[in-house]
Amino acid sequence: MFKAAAEDSKILLKKRWNDTMRVYKIEEHIHLIDVETAGIKNFIASYVLKGKQVAIVETGPTSSIPNLLKGLEELDVKSEDVAYVAVSHIHLDHGGGVGTLLKHLPNAKAVVHQRGAPHLANPEKLWQQSRAVLGKITEMYCAPEPVPEERIIAATDGMTLDVGGGVRLKVVETLGHASHHLSYYEPLSEGIFPGDAAGIYINEIDVVVPTTPPPFRLDIALTSIDKLMGFEPKVLFYSHFGKACDAVNKLQVYSRQLKLWAKIAKHGLENKENLETISGKILESDVAVRKAKEYIEAHQILSETVLGESVQGIVGFVEKYGEVLT
Ligand SMILES: [Zn+2]
Repeated sequence: MFKAAAEDSKILLKKRWNDTMRVYKIEEHIHLIDVETAGIKNFIASYVLKGKQVAIVETGPTSSIPNLLKGLEELDVKSEDVAYVAVSHIHLDHGGGVGTLLKHLPNAKAVVHQRGAPHLANPEKLWQQSRAVLGKITEMYCAPEPVPEERIIAATDGMTLDVGGGVRLKVVETLGHASHHLSYYEPLSEGIFPGDAAGIYINEIDVVVPTTPPPFRLDIALTSIDKLMGFEPKVLFYSHFGKACDAVNKLQVYSRQLKLWAKIAKHGLENKENLETISGKILESDVAVRKAKEYIEAHQILSETVLGESVQGIVGFVEKYGEVLT
């Protein structure tokens, strides 16, 4: 009888915990953990790939590492089984938590673009720059902790991370959003973890919006999108947020969307319009952004980043490099 009561309370505990934390099985070998940074759901995803060992793609920021650890526990992941913690780039919402997470995973190596590696080892400059750019948002993310140099793999294009059982990740250099950005192709699912190279997917309304903060390189970003399309992926596992089918189409649409924004920015600059006016015109012309308007405005972080920083990034590119490729 005691045992039954104990079992009941265990079930209850699990249920209660699941009400607040969400772990989804999205492929036979892949789970998504919603790390719920600052209590915001459906914003930052961390992915757990199970082969013989385990790989994690994206950590989210330092502040939500306790949530990620709870998710790993829920998935019965043994801390010593994690071989890789791969991040798309070092921006705090993607790789900010690596240093903290690695303290809990004795055998894991951090995988990051070679240009991002020094910043994982010495995150002070990254933290100061993030504070300058993101202001109050950084308080929700918290400061990154350093990763010991010997635990960092400075990844290059084409490198493969193998966790056994047929589960592999192929490193795909996809610059543009940042000068040190990687995506990962996963052959079993024929899926891609695009980081921020494919925009922000608002899964609740099935819409993609740009994430193109300065110093954004549109020309390079478009090449990266083409490169991802070259894999003919079936699914995308967005860091923001979740799994989406119809991957090639989503990439094509994103590419067109970026070109549209650039066209509006070019026209705006020629007519000496300010950022606000250009932003307004983007909102008028871009069906996806219009559809996402209410969602973005109600969202603490997206409201500052999408129609503010992302517009700035595109305008900055057009100002500096002039004519855009169409
Ligand atoms: Zn991001």
